[in-house]
Amino acid sequence: MDTTRAHDPTSFRVLGGEVIGLLAEHLAAAQARDLPVLPTIRPDELLARWDQPFPRAGLPAERADERLLELLRAVLEQSIHLQHPGYVGHQVALPLPKAGLLELTAALLNNGMAVYEMGQVQTVLERRVVELLAATLGLPETAGGLLTHGGSLGNLTALLAARQARSEHDVWSEGQREPLAVLVSEQAHYCVARAVQVMGWGAGGAQRVATDGAFRLDPADLPRAHQRARDEGRRVVAVVASCCSTATGSFDPVEPIADYCEEHGLWLHVDGAHGASFAFSAAQRGRLSGVERADSVVWDLHKMMGLPALSTAVLYRDDRRSTQAFAQDAAYLFDADAAAARERPWYDLGTRTLECTKRSMGVTAYCMLQVLGTDWFGAQVDALVERTRWFETLLEAATDFELAHRPQANILCFRHVLEGEPAAERDLRQERLREVVLEEGSYYLVQTRLRGALWLRVTLMNPATTRADLEGLLASLRRAAEVVRARAAARR
Ligand SMILES: *Cc1c(COP(=O)(O)O)cnc(C)c1O
Repeated sequence: MDTTRAHDPTSFRVLGGEVIGLLAEHLAAAQARDLPVLPTIRPDELLARWDQPFPRAGLPAERADERLLELLRAVLEQSIHLQHPGYVGHQVALPLPKAGLLELTAALLNNGMAVYEMGQVQTVLERRVVELLAATLGLPETAGGLLTHGGSLGNLTALLAARQARSEHDVWSEGQREPLAVLVSEQAHYCVARAVQVMGWGAGGAQRVATDGAFRLDPADLPRAHQRARDEGRRVVAVVASCCSTATGSFDPVEPIADYCEEHGLWLHVDGAHGASFAFSAAQRGRLSGVERADSVVWDLHKMMGLPALSTAVLYRDDRRSTQAFAQDAAYLFDADAAAARERPWYDLGTRTLECTKRSMGVTAYCMLQVLGTDWFGAQVDALVERTRWFETLLEAATDFELAHRPQANILCFRHVLEGEPAAERDLRQERLREVVLEEGSYYLVQTRLRGALWLRVTLMNPATTRADLEGLLASLRRAAEVVRARAAARR
C-alpha cells in the first residue's frame, strides 16, 4: 500500500477550502441563533449512532474526502456551539476563529518542543508570550515560566516548584520525608486538592480556609487552618489564592494573603486560571491587587482570552524555580552538565514541564496578541463583566429569582424561588428547570452547589450575548417552571 498518498498537498488544498467553507457557515449559523445551543442526546443514544465498524481497507481517494466532510458535518451538528449567544455555561473560551486557523498550522507543523531543536520558533514565541503575561501581572524582571496543557496541569506544576523551593531538603531526588500541606480556600478548584494528592500528601494536604459572605478566602482564618495543619503533623509550604474561584468568580484578597505568606515564609501561588486575564483591563485589574507579589501564577489563555483549549501559562517570580521543579537528568534530551548545575538553558522547555512532546501554544497566542493588541483583551474582559451586571440587574428586579452573590467577574449564581418551598424541593426543582431549558435549545447554563444548596450558574463568555438574550433566558426559565409544575401536578 502506498501510504504517502495521504500526504498529497493538492488534495489537502481542495479539501481545506471545503472545510473552511463549512466552518464559516457553521459559525454564521451559530451566531445567528439558527442552531440549538447544544443537541440534547443521551450518551448511550449517541454512542449507538456511531457504530460503524473501522474498515481494514480505506476508501478510494475520490470517496475519502466526501466521507470526511460527511463525518465532519455530523460532528458539527452534534457539538456544543459556543458561538451561540445563548451559551452561558462553562468557562470555556469563545474561540477566536482565526486562532483556530493558527492551531491548524500548529497541527500541521507538529513541532514538538521538549528541546529547542524540536520547535525553535515555537520556543521563542512561547518565551515572548510568557514575558508579556508576567509583565502584565506586574511580576519583576526575574520572572519567567512556560505554557502547558491546562490549568490543572499548571497548578500541579507550580505546586511541584513550591514543594521543591520550600522543603528543607531535595524532595525531588530524595523523596518526601515529612507530611506537607497547602492552605487553600474551600471554594478553590478541585484540581488544587488533586495536585497535592498526586504528590502523595493525602486529603489533608489541602487544608481548607473559610470563605466570607462573598465566597472569598477569609485571611482571618489562615492562622486557624495553619494551626490545624501543624496539629496534624504537617508543615505548610504554600497558600493558594483563587483569582477568581470557579463556582462564583470570587477573587481571594491577595494583599493580606501575601502579607501572611511573607510573615511565615510560605510560597504564594495564585490560581488565576480564569481571572488573570483581568490584568489586561484598566477598569478591572484592581481585582488582582497584590498578584505581583506571588511566587507563581497560573493563567488559562483558553478562558477569557479567547484562545482555543488548551493553553495555560505557569509564571514564576523567579524563572529558575521553573526548572528546579523537575531537576531530573535525561541525558538523551537535556545537557547533563547543565542539569547538574540546576541552571538550565531557558530554551529547552521540557526541563520545565510534565510534558515531553508538547503542542506549540505560544504561536497562536503571540500572533493573536500581535494583531489584536493587548487592549482588545481588556475590552473583552470589560464586555463580559458588563453583561454579567446586566443579568444581575434583571435578576434583582425579578421577585421570582434570587442571587447567591454579587458578581465580581463574569460568573453569577442564582435560583428560581417559590414562596414557602422546602429547601430539598427547591434544589431538585433547579435541576429540573435546567433540564427543560436545555431541551428547549436556546440556552445552555450550568448548576453548582454552594454551601450545600443548589444554584443555577451562568458564565458570560460571549460579547455577542445581548440584554434581550438574557431577558429571554429568564423567560425560558419561567416557562420551564410552568412545565415542571404541570408535570408534578400530572404525577399527583
Ligand atoms: C478552569 C479552572 C481551573 C482548571 O483549568 P483547566 O484548564 O480546565 O484544567 C483551575 N482553577 C480555576 C480557578 C479555574 O477556573
